[in-house]
Amino acid sequence: MADATELPVVGPSPAISEVDVPSLAAWLAARGEPAYRARQILAGAHRTDAAGFADLTDLPAALRDALADAFRFSTIADSHVIGADGGMTAKAVHELADGQRIESVLMRYPARGAAAERTTICISSQAGCAVNCPFCATGQAGFGRQLTPAEIVDQVLHWHRPPWRALGDASRGHYNIVFMGMGEPLNNADRVFEAVHMLNDPDRLGIGARHITVSTSGVVPAMDRMVEELPQVNLAISLHAATDSLRDELVPINRKWPVAEVVAAGRRFAARTGRRVSLEYVMIHGVNDTPEQAGGLVELAEGWRSHVNLIPLNPTPGSRWSGTPPEGIRRFVAQLEAGGVPVTVRDTRGREIDAACGQLHAQLAGRALRDARAGAAAGTARA
Ligand code: SAH
Ligand code: SF4
Repeated sequence: MADATELPVVGPSPAISEVDVPSLAAWLAARGEPAYRARQILAGAHRTDAAGFADLTDLPAALRDALADAFRFSTIADSHVIGADGGMTAKAVHELADGQRIESVLMRYPARGAAAERTTICISSQAGCAVNCPFCATGQAGFGRQLTPAEIVDQVLHWHRPPWRALGDASRGHYNIVFMGMGEPLNNADRVFEAVHMLNDPDRLGIGARHITVSTSGVVPAMDRMVEELPQVNLAISLHAATDSLRDELVPINRKWPVAEVVAAGRRFAARTGRRVSLEYVMIHGVNDTPEQAGGLVELAEGWRSHVNLIPLNPTPGSRWSGTPPEGIRRFVAQLEAGGVPVTVRDTRGREIDAACGQLHAQLAGRALRDARAGAAAGTARA
């Protein structure tokens, strides 16, 4: 984390999510302020009702002004948000200090029967992605740069703060944070792991590791690091094909870590942590939805703590592929179930706002976020 006493000569000032209690205390000491204010400032920055330092009214006004001069409230410079599903889903394109753009998505699920309301926040780990999966809008756009831990955490804070206040009392726990936005989290493992520890930090959001899921295209060495360093975080593997010849095409990183190695790493994670690993499988019509692939998938998934999650393809603009029709999905599900493999079909939440990986970003490329906001349809622009 940045030392808040060493303000950069060039570039933006540190964000509050980039400083820790000791460095904040040092900055306060230099101003003759008591050290206890450090925790007070950090707590204020994580309140659901604070949109800026000016809202931290339990601090003296002069200190609020000094904080606003020395720190940014977020590493996110600007956000364009659109809503769908009657406000139950919202997607943001965030602009960072250097102009890079990333995405995050908020999905709320209403209370149903005995189940309480749930909230899922989907965040990005990189600006762009180098893995280059041909069905993914992020992959098509190429790699921008790694995100810092603060840039990762600030996407969650964006939805935690006004006007969304999406997490409410984080300690109650009816929410999930998923690394399923832009980027391959395990190609940015050090910073993603630090961001997870920051999300866990009781002085910050205090989000339990069991509420966090890392989704990977199969970076095997970093999957093994997760066993040691993040054993309580959920692991999802984007498998998408049961054979190397097809997976080489759909998830090109397969040429480095083929199917057998990726599944073996998943099995190690499940065996060592006792946690069920999710195998993500995007359903592409006539490509990976065949009985042969389903049969191969049964062989890969059976006999260990795994679970298959089918995702209907959300076709990217100009895509040569379409999603498997419902009847094809039913057949695929039946074959997996006959093989004894637990399977669910992911709901296609946010399709109307292009919530899949990188698509809204692609649509807004080259346009100022301000202009995009002005052009948004009435009733969909929420913030
Ligand atoms: N890079 C990581 C995490 C981000 S992608 C990974 O690939 O796992 C999150 C999920 O969205 C992945 O399972 C990915 O395959 C899926 N996805 C990407 N593009 C999609 C599309 N057009 N339709 C449906 N799912 C898509
Ligand atoms: Fe990268 Fe995941 Fe998209 Fe593949 S699916 S290009 S790994 S973000």
